[in-house]
Amino acid sequence: MRIANSLKLGGDRYRGVDLVPRMAGAGFDGLDFNFYDVYRRPEWRDPASAEAELEALARAASDAGVEWVQAHGPFVIGPADLSGDGGMMESCARSIRASGRLGAPWTVLHPFYFDGAWDRAHHERMLQANVGFFRALLPECKAAGVGVALENTYDPDRPHARVFGSLPEDLCEIVDSLDHDLIGICWDTGHAHLAKLDQRAGIASLGKRLKAVHIHDNDGRDDFHVLPFATAHMGIDWDAVTAGLAEAGYEGAFTLEVGTAFRGVPEELFGEMLRFSARVARHLADRVEKSRAR
Ligand SMILES: [Zn+2]
Repeated sequence: MRIANSLKLGGDRYRGVDLVPRMAGAGFDGLDFNFYDVYRRPEWRDPASAEAELEALARAASDAGVEWVQAHGPFVIGPADLSGDGGMMESCARSIRASGRLGAPWTVLHPFYFDGAWDRAHHERMLQANVGFFRALLPECKAAGVGVALENTYDPDRPHARVFGSLPEDLCEIVDSLDHDLIGICWDTGHAHLAKLDQRAGIASLGKRLKAVHIHDNDGRDDFHVLPFATAHMGIDWDAVTAGLAEAGYEGAFTLEVGTAFRGVPEELFGEMLRFSARVARHLADRVEKSRAR
């Protein structure tokens, strides 16, 4: 199983192209590009400078012998975002095109929810709104050869509330309604922990729909994005996660999303921290393989 890490590390201290060879040197096979960090920056809104940036990132990865395994698109918040000038749809489309340029097969996007009675009719309206939004992106996906993986989310104001999109069955309903090879699921272990989900059953239930993962830990209260095992007894049951990935038949990369773990780390320790994070990822990826063999 390949191990990967997100380029969202160390805040703004490091340029993406400089991090790529360091990731490879630390032992990672793959990279996750975070479009949501950059898509509002003027240089990314200008097609020529965005192309130059993407070209540099693609070249840095091929020089270092690592692959772009996935990318993260902008956060789709809900209908307020979707109305007006269609800016959110266009931002998602641009992130899909950028993923294609890097050769990343999946762009991760969040499904969205909106207030209502939280009854069946409300659920159905949210389902149809999501299906409509992601169906409208399919032509971009086909043109770029990039799929959209829908990520389980949570409500930052009510982290334990099971809002639409936080449950594996919500994601499966959207994906099954769209029924297309370029639509799948990304499982975020930290968000599932906040929603107090059974990670093993939740991940296993996704089966072949599962195309990407965001691996990180927290204490069950806040979305910390720290390394697995960092929060001791309050943290995630990693046996459950690795067994679930094996049971789902997951074939993608084991991708960390642990930006907070690196934020305060001084440069003198940064390389050591990168190598340690690769060791943690490799340890857990090996546990997935062992679970598969059982
Ligand atoms: Zn995530």
